[in-house]
Amino acid sequence: MLKKIIKYFKDSELKHSLAFALLVFALCGSAAVWKLTSEAAPVARTKEVPLLEIVHRHSDPFQQFPEAFPLQVAVFWTSPGPDPENPLPLVHSLKEMGIPFFITRDLSEALRHRLVILYPSVDSRTFTQPQADQLATFVRRGGFIFAQNVFWGGLQNLFGFRSFAPSRNRHRLVFSGTKDPVTKYLNRPEERETQLGSERFPEIIWSNGYVPAPGAEVLAHFDDGSAALLTNSVGEGKVYLLGLSLLDVVLRNQNNHDYEAQRHYVNAFEPGADVWLLVLRAWYEAYGKDWVRLATIPGGQRSALLLSHDVDWENSFAPGLDFARIEKANQASSTFFIQTKYVDDANSKAFFFAPNVELLRQLKAGGSTVGSHSIIHSRGFNKFELGSGHETYSSYQPRGLGFDTASGATVFGEVRVSKELLDGGIPGQDTTFFRAGHLRVPVSLPEALERSGYQFDSSFTADDVLSNFPFALPRGFGFEEDSEIYEFPVTIEDEESPGFAKRVPQALGVILANAENGAVSVVLIHSNESILKGAAEQELLRQLPPDIVKTDMLTFATFWRARDRLQWSLIQTSVPTEVVLEVKSAESVAGLTFEFQRPIATVTDGATMSPDKRHLVLPEVAPGHSVSIHINYLR
Ligand SMILES: [Zn+2]
Repeated sequence: MLKKIIKYFKDSELKHSLAFALLVFALCGSAAVWKLTSEAAPVARTKEVPLLEIVHRHSDPFQQFPEAFPLQVAVFWTSPGPDPENPLPLVHSLKEMGIPFFITRDLSEALRHRLVILYPSVDSRTFTQPQADQLATFVRRGGFIFAQNVFWGGLQNLFGFRSFAPSRNRHRLVFSGTKDPVTKYLNRPEERETQLGSERFPEIIWSNGYVPAPGAEVLAHFDDGSAALLTNSVGEGKVYLLGLSLLDVVLRNQNNHDYEAQRHYVNAFEPGADVWLLVLRAWYEAYGKDWVRLATIPGGQRSALLLSHDVDWENSFAPGLDFARIEKANQASSTFFIQTKYVDDANSKAFFFAPNVELLRQLKAGGSTVGSHSIIHSRGFNKFELGSGHETYSSYQPRGLGFDTASGATVFGEVRVSKELLDGGIPGQDTTFFRAGHLRVPVSLPEALERSGYQFDSSFTADDVLSNFPFALPRGFGFEEDSEIYEFPVTIEDEESPGFAKRVPQALGVILANAENGAVSVVLIHSNESILKGAAEQELLRQLPPDIVKTDMLTFATFWRARDRLQWSLIQTSVPTEVVLEVKSAESVAGLTFEFQRPIATVTDGATMSPDKRHLVLPEVAPGHSVSIHINYLR
């Protein structure tokens, strides 16, 4: 806040005297300057927020992801034992990339499909010798396998390795300069080399460095020279072998349980987890026959720029209207995350009351969307207790004692009571999006959010989670089960020196790097002033390529959630050039886009084709409804 207030004033003299005053204030420590009572705050309008129970949707991955059509990738789950490693990391990867798949324990069923993933590992107990022979025959006759951590000597020849060495101190990974199709999307330096963990930690994630057999090709190697990704051609088919687990290089990063693998915190391009999603996507597209993929972006577009503003100061409300005007003039919109501060404390006075609430009503009425940015915006939020879940506006009295410390504050309180206030204060508002103050994330955040009726969060940075795709937040940031909350991490923010106004070209560079991958970019601009930052946002929107959607976070998040929960199948008809795409959505969704390997000649039922004839955009699907589109390929 200190930084922010100073930035607001251009006059340097004023800046210095203000900085001095604030420094004195900061040095006063806990000796509060403002009165620590709530006498000033008038009673606000609230709307009750029911406390929901946690719903465990699925425990059986076979039921959740059944075999349905030939184009699906078969996931053979190798670890169903008493302490099974959950397929969640692979499920995240395939769903985010829109690759159709099913999960099975039946090897013959798996081998009926052209593409097979063995997950999470293969040791001497996984397969019998006849099954190993079955796998080898499958590949020889034109099957494709992607596996990770194969340890069994019985499959050495098939996977093309002589030996392997497990280790916890390999820190870097470099993709070789080969022309193999699975590295097709890895064209940038940040993608060609990634970091698995910070050198500050001598021991990080487990990796298995392979020694390749003659004939096998090394596609990526670790810093000790051993092979990280191998490929081996056998007969008509080909296998790929990864010496890492997607649990460690995808889900661990998304959960922020990584060993500080990120190379930047924010405002840079960090695809450390995305490279594995892109390898799987490229593998599917290289070897899937007449493949079809559910695209990440609606409307046949290439990428999306998701705009947001944090309103966390008493004078940040009015400039919000300027940003909304700029966005409207550029056919864009944004989500405003509002600090609903109704108590005075050591950090600031209360400011969530009229006329500020009236400004929020205007923003909402003008087409902007609104999310919560907590109540006291504490930098110690990540250390707060969960709370009881019964915190309400009438009883919850949190107070910041300094930036990092607070009394009477809980995670539930910050999440629920801010929703009570926003939903009560703004007509038609149902707050479902949250962003933590200072992007500090407590481990109980997914639980507090889902039990308070939220659906979306944006409290991480994309660099920190090493991913630029939205993802489901696992419960308790574990590895077993997703919560109901989807995460949209922040890519670009405005406060890092030298300030957003001077970083527009850099921001555009990151946005374009993400666009190449079909990923999204989330922009956060504090609305504490709108002259410099408004001009910068205008410039960013003006320079944005036309095939990048510019939209508010809530609109895109609603799309993404429906996309993630979509059921779809592709069935071949008796006519060789005709297929039927069946789509069923539990939620209303517009702009769903499918990408096709084969160019399309005609489509039915209100679907539209892109000029390249390889993207099909669906008409809006009503909740609980199915649509069937008949597609004729060009001959
Ligand atoms: Zn903030």
